[in-house]
Amino acid sequence: MALNGMQIYKLLPQKNCKECGFPTCLAFAMKLAQGNVEAEKCPYMSDDAKAKLSEATAPPMRTVKFGAGDFEYALGGETVLFRHEKTFVNRPRFAVMFSDAMSSDEVDRKIKNVNEVNYTRISEEMHVEIAAFKCEREDKDAFISLIKKVTDSCPKVVPMIMTENTEIAEEAVRQFGDKGPILFGANDQNYEAMVNLAKDHKLLLGVTAAGKEKLYELVEKIQKAGYKELLLDAGSRNLKGTFDDMINIRRTALLSGDRTFGYPTVAFVCDMAQDKMMQLACATLFVEKYASIIVLSDIDYSIALPLFALRQNIFTDPQRPMRIEQGIYKIGAADEESPLLVTVDFALTYFIVSGEVERSKVPAWILIPDAGGYSVLTAWAAGKFNGKSIAKAVKEFEVENKLKTRELIIPGKVAVLKADIEDELPGWKVVVGTEEAATLTNFLRNYKQAAS
Ligand code: SF4
Repeated sequence: MALNGMQIYKLLPQKNCKECGFPTCLAFAMKLAQGNVEAEKCPYMSDDAKAKLSEATAPPMRTVKFGAGDFEYALGGETVLFRHEKTFVNRPRFAVMFSDAMSSDEVDRKIKNVNEVNYTRISEEMHVEIAAFKCEREDKDAFISLIKKVTDSCPKVVPMIMTENTEIAEEAVRQFGDKGPILFGANDQNYEAMVNLAKDHKLLLGVTAAGKEKLYELVEKIQKAGYKELLLDAGSRNLKGTFDDMINIRRTALLSGDRTFGYPTVAFVCDMAQDKMMQLACATLFVEKYASIIVLSDIDYSIALPLFALRQNIFTDPQRPMRIEQGIYKIGAADEESPLLVTVDFALTYFIVSGEVERSKVPAWILIPDAGGYSVLTAWAAGKFNGKSIAKAVKEFEVENKLKTRELIIPGKVAVLKADIEDELPGWKVVVGTEEAATLTNFLRNYKQAAS
């Protein structure tokens, strides 16, 4: 449980020496309770008090990790119930379910689907992050060869080993431990062996029980056994029950500050509906509230495009604009004579402009300077999109070496920048483009015709 200001005050040396930068120990304690200052600011605190305080002032929901290398992911660590209160920090990860009871045709089809969904949206690579493996036949060899087949064929997925059989779990962890798998299946009967296995291999441990109350008791036992890298499952496999569990677990952690439920959770959407669009609808619900891993029965672009876009939109900081990387972007088969446009690094603007350029079928380049991540007019008004910033980008990205053109098409809304840019870029001609991206297609076609 988190400590309040008075409880923290009792742990302090109470010298009122002001060396922490606060007039009294009580003032320092109040700030510590709000999480606005580090305990280390007080040089006189005992090690014992420091240990108690760091536990008490840690975020109510633990951040845990799984995976390895380029495919290591963090889950949890959330501090608010609603994104508009601050921000969500660790996005949920998507899994596809495999089972040793599936036919090899079905396994092959899912492998193909998992590998096919792979694309970039606003500088983020989108793909399935986890393959969940359910051990249904209790056949160790068949289970291991299933995991091997899928992980060999899908190098970007991290395995989630789902078994309550500790012997099978041990063998699977021995064989795939280097991938940082999630070990899922600690229950009231096997938790001691599962905790030891997870501890030895430093794995995220999935804890499952029939209902929240039993899960709570089990997590308490596991915490007492000294393990806190946990993923929670309160056992429900239908929409209403799982939704209820998610809300209760998250509220218990964040509103009551009860760290027994301060862990990420998993939702098995694959068990909630047969219809894939209904599964998609369920998954969108749990992106928002509050699953950290969402297990689907399969994936394709009709599922991935809305789901991954929703996740990206919700798990970005609302206080920071979505930006795309500065640089010069080639659209179509652009060559050194192709038109060059400039716009801002606000992701939405870039994707609208690049979409219209693609639609025009006129190969072109788009230059993106540092414009603070704002839209065109906002960036201009803030002094972030001007002759200097555009000229800087032209030099930084060596546009004059790469292209023969010395014409730069600017957004019509900032026609006022024409002279400013021409002053900063001697030898360049600035062409005022359209005010709206929607008319860019015709503009580019006419521009190309006039040039040829
Ligand atoms: S430095 Fe420590 S002892 Fe001194 S006022 Fe701050 S909290 Fe109190």
